Amino acid sequence: MHGARPVAVVGAGWSGLAAALVLARAGVRVTLFDAAPRAGGRARTVELATPLGRIAIDNGQHLIVGAYRATLQLLDELGATPHLARHPMRLESVSGLSLRTAPLPAPLHLAWGLLRARGLRWSERLAVIRLLHGLGRADWRAREGETVAALLARHRQPVALAARLWAPLCVATLNTLPQHACARTFATVLRDTLGATRAASDFVAPDAPLGALLPDRAVAQLRKLGATLRLHTTVRELQRSADGWHVGAHATGFATVLLALPPWSAARLAAPLGLDVAALQAFEPEPIATAWALWPAGEAPRVPRWLMLDEDPARQRFGQWVFDRGVIGAARVAGVVVSVASRIAGEPPGAVAAGIVDQLREAIGGPPAAALRIVTERRATFRCTPLRPRLSCDHFRHPAPGLWLAGDWVWPDYPATLEAAVRSGRHAAACILADLAAQSVGPGSARSTPRSQRQAASSA
Ligand SMILES: Cc1cc2nc3c(=O)[nH]c(=O)nc-3n(C[C@H](O)[C@H](O)[C@H](O)COP(=O)(O)OP(=O)(O)OC[C@H]3O[C@@H](n4cnc5c(N)ncnc54)[C@H](O)[C@@H]3O)c2cc1C
Repeated sequence: MHGARPVAVVGAGWSGLAAALVLARAGVRVTLFDAAPRAGGRARTVELATPLGRIAIDNGQHLIVGAYRATLQLLDELGATPHLARHPMRLESVSGLSLRTAPLPAPLHLAWGLLRARGLRWSERLAVIRLLHGLGRADWRAREGETVAALLARHRQPVALAARLWAPLCVATLNTLPQHACARTFATVLRDTLGATRAASDFVAPDAPLGALLPDRAVAQLRKLGATLRLHTTVRELQRSADGWHVGAHATGFATVLLALPPWSAARLAAPLGLDVAALQAFEPEPIATAWALWPAGEAPRVPRWLMLDEDPARQRFGQWVFDRGVIGAARVAGVVVSVASRIAGEPPGAVAAGIVDQLREAIGGPPAAALRIVTERRATFRCTPLRPRLSCDHFRHPAPGLWLAGDWVWPDYPATLEAAVRSGRHAAACILADLAAQSVGPGSARSTPRSQRQAASSA
C-alpha cells in the first residue's frame, strides 16, 4: 500500500464496484460509499415475502448477452462463470415467431436462422437482411438525431415485422419506445449482437440472484484488498479544500472522488459545488416493472426458459417477456418484464396484476399463478433518446480537478445496461490511475507511485 491519498468511490452499483476493483487491485487505497445496506444498486437481490414463503430474487429480471465482454470478464475474474449458462439466441413469441441462431460461424449463424425461421414471411426475412446489411455498410451508424422508428422506415421494414421483432428488441434493450428511441444506440446494439460473432448474440442465464453473482463477490474481494466499505452511508455533500476532498460529514482527505451514481444523484452532489449540472439533469428516468409469478413447485405449468409475450395494453396485457427462474424454496418462479413502465403508471395495481396473471395463462397454460409480486423500479434506466447528452468521465475535470463520473450513462454508445456500467467504471478507474500517476511524477514525488498502479494506468 503506498502513501498517496485515498480515492473515494461514491456508489456501489456495478459501475462503482468495477471501478473500485480496478483501483484497489492497482494498490490504491479505496473507500466505497453506498446509501443502501447492500451493494448492487439497480442490479441487486431483493427478499420478497410471498404466500409461498420468502424468496431471494433480482430486483428486476436482467438479460445478459454474449456481447457483454467487460461484464462477463469481470464475472469470470470474480469466479462467477460456473453460475452462467450460455444459450444460442432464440427469439420465440406466443404469436408464433421463432428465430434461432444456428451453430455456424457468423454471419451464417443468422442467415441459416432466418432460413429456418417460423412465423416470418419471405419478404420479412429479406427485410431483416436489408436492415442489417444496410447498417453494416454504413459502419453501423444511424443518422444524427434519428429515432428507431425513422431508421426502420428508412430501411423499408414491413410494419408487422417492426411490431413483432424490432419494437420488442428496441424496448427490451433501450427501455424506450421506437418512436422516441435513439437509432444510433440501437444500431450499436445490433452491431455488437446480431452483427457480431455467433457467441455475441448468446443469451447468458445465471442460476443465482444478481447479488450473489457480482456485488457480494466484489465486496468480498474489495475487503480482501484492504478497501474500506461504508455501506448504509448516504453521501449528502462534497467539499474541496487544500487537504483534498471531503465526502459527507466525516470522511476527508481524498485525492480523488469518483461519483458512480445515476445522473440525477450525481447532479444533486455536484450542484452545490457551483458546477454546471444541466447536462446531468437532462437525463430522464424510465421505469421497468418485473412481476414475479409463483406457483407451488409441484403444480406449476411448464415455463419456457424465456418467451416473448404479445403486449396489448388495451387488453391489460402489459408483459413483454417471461423468464423461468426455476424452483426457489417451495415455489416455481417466473419473471414477467414490463419495460417502458411509465405507460402503466396510471393503471390500478390490481388491474396490472390481474392482466399479467391472465396473460401468463394465455401464454403458457396451466393454473393461474398462486401469487404475484410486482417490483417497480421507477428510475430503472435513462430514456435512451437521440438527443440525450453524451458525457465522459472527466466532464468536471476543469472546473473541479479530481472529481470523476461513472455509471451506465457515462458510456455514450450504449443504452443503460450492466455492460455500460461496467465499461464506464473500468474506464473511469483507468483514467484516475493515469491521472494519479501523472500527478506523482510531479516535483519530488516521482517514486511514490507503486509499480502496479503505473502498469494498470498505462495498460488502460
Ligand atoms: C428493473 C431493471 C431491469 C433492468 N434490466 C436490464 C437488463 O436486462 N440488462 C441490462 O444490461 N441492464 C438492465 N438494467 C439496467 C442495469 O441494472 C443498470 O444499467 C446498472 O445496474 C446501472 O449500474 P450503475 O452502477 O451505473 O448505477 P446504480 O446501480 O444506480 O448504482 C448507483 C449506486 O449509488 C448509490 N447512491 C445513490 N445516491 C447515493 C448517495 N448520495 N450516497 C451514497 N450512495 C448513493 C445507490 O444506492 C446505488 O447503489 C435494468 C435495470 C432495472 C432497474
